[in-house]
Amino acid sequence: MFKINENYLKLPGSYLFSTIAKKVNEFQAANPDKSVIRLGIGDVTQPLAPAIIDALHGAVDEMGKAETFHGYAPDLGYEFLRTAIAKNDYADRGCDIAADEIFVSDGAKCDSGNIQEIFSVDNKIAVCDPVYPVYVDTNVMAGRTGTYDPKTEMWSDVIYMPCTAENNFAPELPKETPDMIYLCFPNNPTGATITKDQLQVWVDYANKVGAVIIYDAAYEAYISEPDVPHTIFECEGARTCAIELKSFSKNAGFTGTRLGYTVIPKDLKCGDVMLHSLWARRHGTKYNGAPYIQQRAGEAVYSPEGKEQLAKQVAYYMNNAKVIKEGLQEAGYTVSGGVNAPYIWLKTPGSMTSWEFFDYLLANANVVGTPGSGFGPSGEGYFRLTAFGTYENTVAALERIRKM
Ligand SMILES: *Cc1c(COP(=O)(O)O)cnc(C)c1O
Repeated sequence: MFKINENYLKLPGSYLFSTIAKKVNEFQAANPDKSVIRLGIGDVTQPLAPAIIDALHGAVDEMGKAETFHGYAPDLGYEFLRTAIAKNDYADRGCDIAADEIFVSDGAKCDSGNIQEIFSVDNKIAVCDPVYPVYVDTNVMAGRTGTYDPKTEMWSDVIYMPCTAENNFAPELPKETPDMIYLCFPNNPTGATITKDQLQVWVDYANKVGAVIIYDAAYEAYISEPDVPHTIFECEGARTCAIELKSFSKNAGFTGTRLGYTVIPKDLKCGDVMLHSLWARRHGTKYNGAPYIQQRAGEAVYSPEGKEQLAKQVAYYMNNAKVIKEGLQEAGYTVSGGVNAPYIWLKTPGSMTSWEFFDYLLANANVVGTPGSGFGPSGEGYFRLTAFGTYENTVAALERIRKM
């Protein structure tokens, strides 16, 4: 008789967004006349920019002719895209990352979930609390997190780094030494970020204790303040301790198109083993490369027209963020985020729990957000709204919230 990977059975409850979808569907079924505005899930709404559509069309036509047809892509990505990434995201920022240290993939969710495979199951992970659930759940599946305590909503073998109003939503160095540290800045869900000097402290710490930092920079394009780092490789010493995850989903609207990449510097080693070699082996064995068509679209993200169009798209969402943040502040809420990230993190009023506020907001404003507690115990008492809606819906949602 076969056996299953019992680690899967340890995963508590259902996935956050399926619970939300269920509640919204029930509400909609009971109130068919109400129009619900969704400012919950982190999906974009603006269409792909013209420069990207042109690149997609061009690549599709190439696939239809024998002379320009492309079969399996190189495992690690096409040279044209890796070169564009190395130049625009690293060299132009003064960071030393070579094209062959970039691994192109179909998105950062997969990479952030798969990357733990190249590490020992005995490693101890540290995560921010609240956290993007993928980091924890994929380590649960791998059997790295110990046992779950439903009361505290914590795993026995995970180091939690609370990010609350008290520390300005920036984690402090953990007391217990981790082996793997997951950081995401600008942050999902809090919308907070840290300065380059603050990130340098983490890089120095990781190098000192021999930990690896898995740095998720999915929201880099939303940075508006000058002292916020665009990549961890702006920090000195990051080449020996950091892996960086990037996505085309939030800067270019590729949530349905799928493209991302992971950077593993060749100086990042365990003894004399390069993590770069392990990830290359993993990619080569389990992955056949992101599609040519998408990689051509990714290249267009870095063209002059692409850059200009995408800056406008980001500005559109950040204007929504401003509408949400200022609207909530006028309505008396305590809010943070929304300056370097498309997320607004608000304190629930009075002593309402995150889920109580979810129900209250859905019933009274017909607006959907995300309960902070769904991202970890320190998210209790907070609530996330996203700027990824349309401007019209965002304005309408805030009008309703102000009237509640
Ligand atoms: C949206 C998001 C990603 C990107 O995921 P894709 O798979 O590239 O769409 C990665 N990390 C975080 C924290 C995110 O919110």
